[in-house]
Amino acid sequence: MKFREIRVPGYERVVIGSDEAAGYRGIVVVHSTALGPAIGGTRYWSYKTEDDAMTDVLRLARGMTYKNALAGLPFGGGKSIIIRDGQARDDQPKDREELFRAHGRMVNSLAGKYITAEDVGTSPVDMEYVLKETTYVGGLQGRSGDPSPHTARGVFRAMQATAKYKWGSDDLAGKTVAIQGCGHVGYFLAGELARVGARLMVTDVDAAKVKRAVDDYGASTVEPEEIYSAAADILAPCALGGALNDRTIPLLKVALVVGGANNQLLEPRHGDLLEQRGMVYAPDYAANAGGVINGCCREMLGWDVDKTLAKTDAIYDTLLKIFALAKQEKIPTYQAADRLAEERLQAARV
Ligand code: NAD
Repeated sequence: MKFREIRVPGYERVVIGSDEAAGYRGIVVVHSTALGPAIGGTRYWSYKTEDDAMTDVLRLARGMTYKNALAGLPFGGGKSIIIRDGQARDDQPKDREELFRAHGRMVNSLAGKYITAEDVGTSPVDMEYVLKETTYVGGLQGRSGDPSPHTARGVFRAMQATAKYKWGSDDLAGKTVAIQGCGHVGYFLAGELARVGARLMVTDVDAAKVKRAVDDYGASTVEPEEIYSAAADILAPCALGGALNDRTIPLLKVALVVGGANNQLLEPRHGDLLEQRGMVYAPDYAANAGGVINGCCREMLGWDVDKTLAKTDAIYDTLLKIFALAKQEKIPTYQAADRLAEERLQAARV
């Protein structure tokens, strides 16, 4: 196993590792430990170039610092990736074990400054392999479980808060919510909304996912491209990042945008564009923190279910604080969220 550390301004640690025998190439990034050990998942993904991989992991690690800070968690932000190449080592369980054990050695080399968990392309089984080499790992089988229902719960609470800010009431009964993506988060969000009598309009590129939401919650459906111009009150982006951009924002007819997807704004300026068009945008990393709150509070802090749920439900209050600051300072909501997170980081540094 070979390790190489590089200096990146604004980041505490950036370690690049490789293990030829295991077919492993990975990067671990610690953005900030101002509030506690850096927490963030391991992504197993293929990239066009090594530069693309580095850009992605740096951006994701920084995002985790802000998400954890805003959620009021005693953890910093970090992220790691395992670069998936043409000869992906996941066709055989033994290869996969070697790969993730190599990653475990990388994580262990940071001696607790970074704690990992599952993310895109990785599973609780992979984290069991990581555990064979380091104790600095969460998201294990039989512990805090699938984060998605908790993420969805947080998004639902964020939606209630955004409705309260815009309409003076957080009652979502009779409101039409257009959900883009009925995967893990989108499906559970549909359940939360159906329970309070919201009307659901859903889309997904996977017909089976759409059918499940229609069968279970009586949702109506639209084609993937039609979701942007849907006659709805609220858009909930729960698929991939970058859904809000120059092409899609002019199509929107909704009053609120509140979803679970990461990096919904293609660029920060798209948050300004939503504002100019009179829509209220719930900053994604504030709304979708329920999964990380559940994982951290249950597994790392040993909290019980009720205390953890109360913390996820408090996303409602965080969103109201963001909106109040945005109004007071006359800034877009995404900037207000960043400012609140930075205030918390600043307070921890002095
Ligand atoms: P998922 O893969 O289970 O669901 C995503 C769904 O979006 C899939 O069903 C997919 O078919 C669909 N989709 C992809 N492209 C689409 C398109 N163009 N139009 C419509 N549907 C499309 O993933 P997930 O775990 O539900 O996560 C969804 C988003 O939420 C991601 O951006 C993820 O990063 C973010 N997120 C998830 C969690 C979590 O707890 N799972 C936590 C925080 C953030």
